[in-house]
Amino acid sequence: MGTIYINGNWVEAVDGETIDVINPSNGEKFTTISRGRAEDVSQAVRAANQALEGRWGQMTATERGRLLCRLGQLILDNAEELAQIEARDTGKPLTVARNDVKVVARYFEFYGTAADKIHGQTVPYLDGFNVSILRVPHGVTAHIIPWNYPAQMLGRTIAPALAMGNAAVLKPSEDACLSSIRIAQLFEEAGFPAGSFNLVTGYGHEAGAALTAHPQINFATFTGSPEVGVLVQEATARNHVPCVLELGGKSPQIVFNDADLEKAAPQIVKAIVQNAGQTCSAGSRLLIQEDIYDKFIAKVARLFNEVRVGTPEMDLDCGPIVSAKQRKRVQGFIDDAVASGVPLLAQGTVAKDAPSGGYFVAPVLFGNVPRAHRLACNEVFGPVLSAMTFSDESDAIALANATEFGLAAGVWTENGSRQARLARKIIAGQIFINCYGAGGGVELPFGGMKKSGHGREKGFLALEEMSTTKTVAQYFN
Ligand code: NAD
Repeated sequence: MGTIYINGNWVEAVDGETIDVINPSNGEKFTTISRGRAEDVSQAVRAANQALEGRWGQMTATERGRLLCRLGQLILDNAEELAQIEARDTGKPLTVARNDVKVVARYFEFYGTAADKIHGQTVPYLDGFNVSILRVPHGVTAHIIPWNYPAQMLGRTIAPALAMGNAAVLKPSEDACLSSIRIAQLFEEAGFPAGSFNLVTGYGHEAGAALTAHPQINFATFTGSPEVGVLVQEATARNHVPCVLELGGKSPQIVFNDADLEKAAPQIVKAIVQNAGQTCSAGSRLLIQEDIYDKFIAKVARLFNEVRVGTPEMDLDCGPIVSAKQRKRVQGFIDDAVASGVPLLAQGTVAKDAPSGGYFVAPVLFGNVPRAHRLACNEVFGPVLSAMTFSDESDAIALANATEFGLAAGVWTENGSRQARLARKIIAGQIFINCYGAGGGVELPFGGMKKSGHGREKGFLALEEMSTTKTVAQYFN
């Protein structure tokens, strides 16, 4: 059976080709997925359009919401199996994968129960007019997601789209899409009408590019690298299709001399080690006020040295990097930094019995990183924390805003006025004060500024993004 799901059917790619799936914990192939391309994408888009004309398009918001909630429950009923699939495919520790699956279920519950609570507006207008603003779906929505939190990303992007009555086509990452395939089976079990949700597995430059350039899509969301974000924006622009881009980050964690250092240190380490640093909103820059630098960095270094890396079953602090290609990229950053003399202050350890073919990288803490160094400016997307100093509040703000990104930031200070000032002055889509919730909960709108992208997912704002409006002026005199 193929891994492409179109119009309620599981099919092979039209030309029958497949892609090998590699286990990042040992480097071995363990299954294959179908290699969808332009023709497969066209069929999926056609099925989505037909679903809008058929039963799916006629459902009430309450009925759609009920289906989403049923799917949320099915995800919970199959949580352990999904967690095992996600852990093997991505390498993440089982405890983390189990939590990810709960979050996916929450997305379907949150948007399922919200589906019939998004209402239009009426406008007081000229005498003799009824004016209403209807909130309507875009139509066919295209969704391209990365490999770092594949199951969560599916829930984050698909649940609000379906809640608003769109019909969706998903292109998950070729590096981790097995949980998407299993969840697609649950869509079927939940009773979603054929064509309301379609899945095309394949490479980004083939299936992904074909989907975003397809003239019959009406909206696209993309989560991934800034470079591919540009390609997606170019492709959708040719058809004047709106798109939401969730791109990378180089998020600062700013620690002032009045912060609760005991509380801050473990959360700062977790914010970069979590998911082996492969989190777009990872706190990857540590900005420390210079008069507490020595004291605080020693604390962080101690915790960093204790970090342990292993397979999903070992269930340690983090797992391997997702692929050989990504591992090479991350290791390249570390080697370059060491070669250019940036002090390597601490490093975690890879478990002795971890398979030698796995893509493991021991997390690294670099100190006194020069402000213009690539480690201070570029996204590594691995477990590498770059520490720097700042002198005062205005220097902290300047340094926080000194990259091309603007996704998230953490501020550690007990001074309430300073908290408020920084929340306003730091350019980022999410600001955490005395905490760091990489991405935060399902309820919290998420997205970037600057080269971290535009548009918002999560929370109620996602429902606005995934729909548009129609103004109806009715003259009755
Ligand atoms: P990527 O951009 O290479 O791939 C992301 C997805 O895009 C994959 O499904 C891929 O197949 C597809 N793709 C690749 N080329 C394409 C093309 N030409 N047209 C259409 N689709 C194409 O990114 P990645 O390596 O999978 O993920 C890592 C990057 O994603 C990091 O930069 C990270 O910061 C970012 N990311 C951002 C968020 C966020 O919410 N802001 C979340 C996770 C990851």
